[in-house]
Amino acid sequence: MTSIWEKESFFEHQDIIIVGSGFAGLWSAYFLCRKQRKAKITIVEKEPIPTGASTRNAGFACFGSLSELLADEQALGTEAMLTLVEMRQKGLERITKSFSKKALDFEKTGGYELYTQSEQRKTEDLEAQVKYLNKSLKPLIKVKPFSLLGKKSSRFGFKNITHIIQNTPEGQLHPGKLARALIQYLQCKGVQILNGVEVKSYEEQGEIIHVQTNHIYPLTTNQILICNNGLSGGLLPSISTMPARGQVFLTSEIKNLPWKGTFHFDEGYYYFRNLGKKVLLGGARNSAFAEEETFSLETSDTVQQELERFLKEVILPGQTFTIDHRWSGTMGMGQSKLPDLSRVSENVYAVVNLGGIGVAMAPYLGEEAAKLMAM
Ligand SMILES: Cc1cc2nc3c(=O)[nH]c(=O)nc-3n(C[C@H](O)[C@H](O)[C@H](O)COP(=O)(O)OP(=O)(O)OC[C@H]3O[C@@H](n4cnc5c(N)ncnc54)[C@H](O)[C@@H]3O)c2cc1C
Repeated sequence: MTSIWEKESFFEHQDIIIVGSGFAGLWSAYFLCRKQRKAKITIVEKEPIPTGASTRNAGFACFGSLSELLADEQALGTEAMLTLVEMRQKGLERITKSFSKKALDFEKTGGYELYTQSEQRKTEDLEAQVKYLNKSLKPLIKVKPFSLLGKKSSRFGFKNITHIIQNTPEGQLHPGKLARALIQYLQCKGVQILNGVEVKSYEEQGEIIHVQTNHIYPLTTNQILICNNGLSGGLLPSISTMPARGQVFLTSEIKNLPWKGTFHFDEGYYYFRNLGKKVLLGGARNSAFAEEETFSLETSDTVQQELERFLKEVILPGQTFTIDHRWSGTMGMGQSKLPDLSRVSENVYAVVNLGGIGVAMAPYLGEEAAKLMAM
């Protein structure tokens, strides 16, 4: 049993409980506490810090690359592709409106997509695609986001890269600093965060939801919002999620690193950026799809070796460096690339399946979730 002091200080009945303190949960809390100033809000997080994807990603403030948006259009249709772009664009605007760029190491460096000889791209084809997509995106963005770099491409020093397409709206940030800034903001606004508490199940009894956790402490609430990135089965039986591990590494400092920015390759399956003078490279999930469908936060030889090959052969040919840091995180993948933002039952809501683009999308989804829950 809890003591009366614990009960009255930490476990009193809540208006809203949010499960998970990744970006989906934190941004939802950010908008909920602004919209419902008097509401009692608690975030329940199973780990000591957010531990899924939000603090383990690559920190791309990503707009999307040319081939990625064309693939999205092919798979989902033009309207859905534009919706995904709009979510990211509005999300990125929200990040820079809410916090100073300096506090987040946010830099609008521009993004780039690389194409190799082996893809046998013709300049005219890429030019036509750039023109087509810039036109399609015109209702959303005034400037033309994509351009083919032509001769300027050689300054990057990449090997076997024949074409580079720039996308100007993209940038990079420090996801750990963003998560910390959100947590500090929420705590100042009176949002309670309970760490080390895993939600096992919940039961709706009339207007009250009883939340069962790994602790003895009973939790009750009027509304519950699940933002667990699909990481624990059973909480959302009606929404399907597949885990997809994303692996990353960071090099030592590179002497005279000739570029800065975020880079995409192979429809976004490979991605890299500078972190100061170091190179952060991730992806290659498509070299071992089945192996990477896991919740494990280990790294694997198959993917790490493939990333090292790509780094040595294409990104930093002839350079000397060491790999100083390796890690992985788990993405939640839904049936399509569109995230799930839904009212699951009368007082149960979900924001999950943010896939590999959740840094940018989470603020948008959090704001929409707050609107939905106030209805
Ligand atoms: C390697 C990698 C690179 C990426 N790079 C980028 C990038 O550059 N740009 C970009 O936009 N996106 C990127 N992403 C994707 C992005 O990080 C995710 O889309 C986003 O962080 C998902 O946020 P989330 O809040 O939904 O999930 P998470 O951040 O995973 O948060 C879920 C939280 O819920 C908690 N939790 C789970 N179950 C329970 C439970 N039962 N009870 C209590 N707590 C629970 C977990 O501990 C976790 O803290 C990347 C992802 C990975 C893995």
